Formats: sequence, structure tokens, C-alpha cells
Amino acid sequence: MNATVKPPVRREAMRIAGKLVSTEDMVEVKNPYDDSVVGLIPAARPEHVRDAFAKAKAFKPVLSRYERQRILQKTAELLFARKEEFARLITAEAGLCWKDSLYEASRAYDVWSFAAQLTIKDDGEMFSCDISPNGKARKIFTTRQPLLGVISAITPFNHPLNMVSHKLAPAIATNNRLVLKPTELTPLTALALADVLYEAGLPPEMLSVVTGNPSTMGDAMITDPDADLVTFTGSVRVGKHIANTAGYKRIVLELGGNDPLIVMEDADLDKAAELAVTGATKNSGQRCTAVKRILVVESVADAFAKLVVEKAKKLTCGDPMDPATDVGTVINARSAALFQARVDDAVAKGAKVLHGKRAEGALFHPTVVDHIPYDCELVHEETFGPVIPIVRVPDDIAKVIAISNSTAYGLSSGICTNRFDYIQRFVAELEVGTVNLWEVPGYRIEMSPFGGIKDSGLGYKEGVVEAMKSFTNVKTWSLPWA
Ligand code: NAD
Repeated sequence: MNATVKPPVRREAMRIAGKLVSTEDMVEVKNPYDDSVVGLIPAARPEHVRDAFAKAKAFKPVLSRYERQRILQKTAELLFARKEEFARLITAEAGLCWKDSLYEASRAYDVWSFAAQLTIKDDGEMFSCDISPNGKARKIFTTRQPLLGVISAITPFNHPLNMVSHKLAPAIATNNRLVLKPTELTPLTALALADVLYEAGLPPEMLSVVTGNPSTMGDAMITDPDADLVTFTGSVRVGKHIANTAGYKRIVLELGGNDPLIVMEDADLDKAAELAVTGATKNSGQRCTAVKRILVVESVADAFAKLVVEKAKKLTCGDPMDPATDVGTVINARSAALFQARVDDAVAKGAKVLHGKRAEGALFHPTVVDHIPYDCELVHEETFGPVIPIVRVPDDIAKVIAISNSTAYGLSSGICTNRFDYIQRFVAELEVGTVNLWEVPGYRIEMSPFGGIKDSGLGYKEGVVEAMKSFTNVKTWSLPWA
């Protein structure tokens, strides 16, 4: 398939319990690279959301484990067969480069395939009670049941296929019903995925997709009386709004990050520089776990910065549809302008730009900035773009850890050192959900537990295994048994 051929403009409808539902008001979906319209989606009103939840609640899922496994595996296979079609859609609506979009499609295959395999693994436990003088000759068993109500799922733009897959696959694996609201910025991929699921045999009442602007229908997704659980991935601002609005409901919040890559004096600097550049620029730097601060100790910072610049210069940034491009656009020109303003602010406070160009529309070139004060907005807030920000820190592990912990975030981290005493301290003292030795903070497999602490996340972790747990109620039952 030729990646340079643009898909035709898609005039979309919502999928409500399998029915196509349109509205007069439509929202434009634009290609961030050339600002062309790639699709139109319905602007749902609260009554559409209500209707979707009511229809979902009225349906009782009866799929056996085997049937769920077949649907999930078939979805994985269809995604694999159509990975280029999905990659084109992702690139068209998100501006992510072709390489990143293809990678995303392959990750989504893993999510669906792992969920299929985990569906047939039994999830019950057994507790013998004759283990204490207080116990009896009985056994207690656990079984996991789907939620009594419906899952409300709200997803961000940065992984249009994979973030949606991480909500849908574990929910279907556990026989739950969902209403999904993908972001208005990249909804086309989510709608295409819903069609794949219906084609794979999912009863359409188990999944509805509603679209539109959160200002008009966002709260309906959070407060619907039939929504038992709200699972949200996105910004801290919206996550906290959900926490304040949802009331007596289970909530799963996977929020922003400000992940450090820490480079100590004993590190192999070439390897560390490679991780820094890759981690900061893949997916246009728009991963919750992208490298958003490189904390390098003073004694090796000059040599390290030189290697980072050499590697950053090798990246091509430009037309996302060009298969040779390494870094596509960020999500829109407004975001690129914000990152540029933060770089300028850091420079005004003493930082130096070692490589990069000024933002052009939604194109933000990989930009190496050195000597950034650690409390500058560029690195203290989440800068969701391909800045490669170097913060020089004292040769003192206690101070490195204190600086690393000084932001409100606590998602993941990457560590470049071979010293075991350092490793032990980082694992014990970094206030994060993940510590990856000699890897980028974003490294994981799709079923390992994933999620942050502090402002980066509240509640359950994600990853297929944990998400399946979060989407179920544990029931215990017991009987006499010696
Ligand atoms: P966002 O918070 O702006 O939007 C996320 C979703 O929330 C969208 O669907 C949006 O329409 C919806 N939304 C916005 N306002 C709402 C409201 N008032 N009520 C209900 N829904 C509302 O986030 P974004 O810009 O799309 O995504 C980027 C953010 O997501 C970054 O902060 C990134 O770090 C984070 N993220 C986190 C993870 C994780 O697993 N921790 C993964 C990916 C992205």
C-alpha cells in the first residue's frame, strides 16, 4: 500500500448498540500536517449518551469464555491484516508518522491477542478455612463477575488505536458492556475499530461509540446513572474534573506524566543518549511515558549533550505520510506554539538550544535544549512534544532523586547506571509507578501492570491483566469442605 495516498474524507455516524446514529451538527476532524478535513463526526448531545447507556444496560451479555476468546482473537487477526489501513487513518488524523502509526497497529494486535489468551485463564481462587482455630472445615472460593452496570470509557488522542484497545479488550474479555467516547481529535480510528469488533462477532449492544465535543456531552459520560465505572486516560486537568464529578462510581484515571531519564556518571553515554533521543521523540514525544526530562549528572553532562545532538540531527521531521519521516507533527499548531513558548521561556532563564528549528504550524522539530533550570515550565509541567530537554544535576544521588521527585507527576522513569547501590535507591525512592533500568520509561508489554501515582494516576493500574481485574466484581462463596 502506498502510504502517500490519503484516505477519502469520512462522514461518520455514531454506533449506538450497533445502529448508525447521525446528528445535524458535525465536528470536523483535521489532518494536523496540512489542516485538511479528513472526517466529520456527529456532535452528540447528552440524550445520545443517555440512550447509549440505557441500551447497554438493558442488554445482558451471555458470551461464554470460548466465544469471547474467539471474538478477541479474530479482532487481533483483522487488525493485523488491516494494519496499513489503520496506520493510514492514524497518520491522517493524528499527524503521527507512518512508522509510529504502523508500530501502534502492531501494539494493538498484542492487546487483543493477550486479552484473548487471558480470557480462557481461570480467575478464581480458593481459601481453605481450617488454617486457624477460628476457621472451620470449609472452603471459600472467589469468582469474578462483570460489572452490574456499564463501563464509561473516555480516551485521548495520542494513541488513537492503542488507548482505545486498552479499554475495550479487557472489558470484552470480562463480558462487560461499554460506551466509548474517543477524543474528538482522533475519533475515526476508534470508529473503524468498533466496526472490526462487530465484524468479529461482538454483539453490538455490548459496545456503543458516541462522538463529539466534551463541552456538550462530557459530563453525561461521567454522571450517567447506568455507568458503574468511568475509565479515563488523558490529562490531569480532565482527570481531576472526573474525580470531582463522578460521585459514587468506580473510577480509573490514567493521567499525564513528566518522566525522567536519569544518567549517572558511570553510564555508557552513547547508549544513554540513544535512549534519551528515542524516548523523547517517538510518537512525536506524545506518549504519557515519553522522556520529558533528562537528568544528567554534571560530571558527564558535556560529553552526553554532544552525543544527544549528534543523534537528534539524524532524525527527519516532516510529512507524516512519507515513510522515511521519523517525527511527524504534534496534534495541532496550538500545542506546537505552546512548546515553542516554553522553550523560549527556558532560554530566557538561561537554557541553550543546541539543535532544532522554530515551530511551523503543527510541526515541532526535535529540539535539544541544555542547561534547563529544573523548575522551568518546560520540564516542570508536561511538555507533550518532541523536546529533548537536558537538566544538569549535582553528582549526588540524593539530590538527583529529590529533583526527580519534585514535580506533581509520578508515572515512570528510565535509569542509566550499572551501580547496584544506585539501582536499589532509585527503585526504592523514586515516586513513580515504574523504574526501567537501561530502557526508556515507556517500555512495557501490553499485559504487564502499568500506571502512575501522584497526579499521574488514581485507582487501578492498566495493562490487560490489571484492567480485567478492575472491570470485575469479586464474589466469594463458601461451602463445607474439609
Ligand atoms: P484530554 O484530557 O484533553 O482529553 C482526553 C479525553 O477526555 C478526550 O476524549 C476528551 O474529549 C475528553 N474530555 C475533555 N474534557 C472532558 C470533560 N469535561 N468531560 C469528559 N471528557 C472530557 O487529554 P489529551 O490531550 O487527549 O491526551 C493527552 C494526555 O493524556 C497527556 O496528559 C498524556 O500524558 C495523557 N495520557 C496518559 C496515559 C496514561 O496511561 N497514563 C496514556 C496516554 C495519554
